[in-house]
Amino acid sequence: MQQSGPGPDNPAPLVVAVDGPGGSGKSTVARAVARRLGLRYLDTGAMYRALTWLALERRVDVEDAETLSEMAEQVLLCIDTDPDAPAITIDGVDVTEPIRTRSVTNAVSAVSAVPAVRRELVRRQRELVTAAEPGIVVEGRDIGTVVAPDAQVKLFLTASTAVRALRRSAELGEQNDDAVARTHSELERRDTLDSGRSASPLVQPEDALVIDSTTMAADEVADIIVARVTEARV
Ligand code: C5P
Repeated sequence: MQQSGPGPDNPAPLVVAVDGPGGSGKSTVARAVARRLGLRYLDTGAMYRALTWLALERRVDVEDAETLSEMAEQVLLCIDTDPDAPAITIDGVDVTEPIRTRSVTNAVSAVSAVPAVRRELVRRQRELVTAAEPGIVVEGRDIGTVVAPDAQVKLFLTASTAVRALRRSAELGEQNDDAVARTHSELERRDTLDSGRSASPLVQPEDALVIDSTTMAADEVADIIVARVTEARV
């Protein structure tokens, strides 16, 4: 008889949930952990960003919940779960790079606050998680609380806003004081929107290990997580 779900002979895939605000180091650390443990990697933020990119391309108002919800249901969204090449395409267009631009970053919180958009993207994320062999590191804002509440390991990464702004500016290649100050205020605005929305806001899962990476290198954070996953596996 065919196995239909997780059971003694068909264990559920290992899921490592990494939540936290922008610039907390989630992506760097989650990819490093996935590589070191031979797991898949899913950047759920990239999915919200891709939909936002398409909305901007089509000149759809990011407050137009109905059109955004229809788009979320109809688009062809393909995301690679290889931690070495997490490419993403939407309706056949490779948007791996364009989704990191400032215009997408500043519009994405409005799109991700639409409940029907979240429902659809969470459904797709759960499918990717269930199919991941032998397991997956998933990063986002609601992974340990909504997407994968049964994840075997849950982490919540934080860092001071000042350090997060410096990291984001470095990623954008903008290191001067004005650019960092602008990134700082944009991050604060996004934190407020992502934490204050009614549909699955950014919250710290009660059962997550909280890591403040303000003064830590990404490798140190990855070491802690790898140790935690190794413990959970035995
Ligand atoms: O992680 P990243 O900064 O790329 O996420 C972009 C945006 O996508 C966040 O600011 C948030 O609005 C949204 N997001 C979300 N839920 C997730 C992942 C990201 O709402 N699980």
